[in-house]
Amino acid sequence: MADRPRIVGIDLGTTNTLVASVRNRIPKIVPTDRGNLILPSVVALSSKGDLLVGGVAKDQMVTNPRNTLWGTKRLIGRKYHSKSVEDLRGAFPYDIVEGPGGDAAVMLDGKLYSLPQVSSFVLSQLKTIAEQFLGGPIDAAVISVPAYYNDNQRQAVKEAGRLAGFDVKRIVNEPTAAALAYGFNRGLDQKILVYDLGGGTFDVSVLHLSGNVFEVLATGGDTFLGGADFDNRIMEYVLERFREETKVDLAENPIALQRIKNAAEAAKIDLTLIPNVVIDLPFIDERKGKPLDLRIPLTREFLNSLTGDLVDRTFDICDRVLAEKGIARSEIDEIILVGGQSRMPLVQQKIQAHFGKPPRKGVHPDECVALGAALLGDSLGSIDAVTLLDALSMPIGYALPNGRVKRIIEKNSLIPMVKSFRLPPPKEPGAPFIELDIFQGDSDLMVDNEYLGTVRVPSAAAGRKIDFRLTEECLLQVMVEEASGMRKVDLATRDTPEQLKKALQEVVIKRDTQPVPSSNGTNDDRGLLSSIKSIFRRG
Ligand code: AMP
Repeated sequence: MADRPRIVGIDLGTTNTLVASVRNRIPKIVPTDRGNLILPSVVALSSKGDLLVGGVAKDQMVTNPRNTLWGTKRLIGRKYHSKSVEDLRGAFPYDIVEGPGGDAAVMLDGKLYSLPQVSSFVLSQLKTIAEQFLGGPIDAAVISVPAYYNDNQRQAVKEAGRLAGFDVKRIVNEPTAAALAYGFNRGLDQKILVYDLGGGTFDVSVLHLSGNVFEVLATGGDTFLGGADFDNRIMEYVLERFREETKVDLAENPIALQRIKNAAEAAKIDLTLIPNVVIDLPFIDERKGKPLDLRIPLTREFLNSLTGDLVDRTFDICDRVLAEKGIARSEIDEIILVGGQSRMPLVQQKIQAHFGKPPRKGVHPDECVALGAALLGDSLGSIDAVTLLDALSMPIGYALPNGRVKRIIEKNSLIPMVKSFRLPPPKEPGAPFIELDIFQGDSDLMVDNEYLGTVRVPSAAAGRKIDFRLTEECLLQVMVEEASGMRKVDLATRDTPEQLKKALQEVVIKRDTQPVPSSNGTNDDRGLLSSIKSIFRRG
């Protein structure tokens, strides 16, 4: 059949993953074999040693927490010794370890898996589901990622897609995909704000839609703010109440904790529809051989008081993003909600109060990203293809010997783009190579940023042109001038934590003899020192 879709759009979510395909220009979510539209992003090893994916993996989360991987979207593409992984390590009951190349990896029953591998299990399950439903092989996909993902995270998701057997045609930013689902082929001329509050992350993007040109004006977010934080607030409250009532601390009981976590999330979701719930967990523990039950009522109002500050934090981010581009709140024509947590009534009320208008109805917060990714996939290569002008969410630069970062590409730069500069001389006179350690992140200090890799070229290249190119997928390519023209340079990976520590030690030694100039012209390097201390503690 000529119109059989061979490309799908995939929203690889923190909590759930969805796949969509376009037929006759209409995008639709493909149902899973359980008849659901979502596949939980959960991978597990059963007690019999079977690899489980999706609902079946989630079902055994309570009884087998150490061999059940969830929330891995927060870990993929991160270095084991990075601050983000350090912060997350205690949040998951499974083992996070150091994998090849210093990447964070996970263990299932004593066997190491890379995070792209884990995501590939989810993706290949979806591939099978889509192939069965659509009746034929699917070989290509557009996969969405948070706008806030750095280069390493994007590369890792692409790798996951490849491992699952997809030709990944595009990595697209989730808010951009959501905007496509809203505005594709509607001939609009609007400024819209995509407010994406998912399970683990918050993303905001402001776009200008003009026909089928989708231009991202500004983007921002917080990779540590999402539905799970709302669940945690409920969990903390439940643990505290139970401790008060029974003097029993459930914090050391992983199975009880997992049951409370599930019940907290379920209560939160129920409170979207009804004003009161009771968290009811019979036989949560025992005392002197007698069962202890947990029964704690929760009202929507109380949930609002427990989590209101989390919602307010999202508006601080929205305001910052708008201010960066000098856009007034009143200029926003529509607010599009994405992510399950945006369904919370408090979020919608506060949006209305903050922006002076209610969020747009009719765009499905769970489905729009996958639908938009599918629309993009379908439009690639066609004559009426959409034009996406996306923006870089975090600046990219290279490390200076004083531990700071020299910015090369600024935040919110329109992509695709190229920035050229001249290669600096080697760090030490007479060294055979120039090495530029490339970092991405908002901080001026390299230790607070994510290491992307090292450009290593012979010292004779000093003064030659070097290009930092950002592809339409927001992936970095480095080109260096040679006699024959510009040549692509593969980034070498150094043993990051060790190298960083060594570099920082040199900074500390230098610091005793000379002050480290900061980029704002002062000599206040307290931030640098505290980062150095934390990296030493980690080592
Ligand atoms: P996502 O990453 O978009 O799949 O969002 C998942 C998050 O949305 C999880 O934290 C869910 O608990 C949360 N969520 C889903 N439905 C609701 C709802 N009706 N009310 C509040 N939160 C919800």
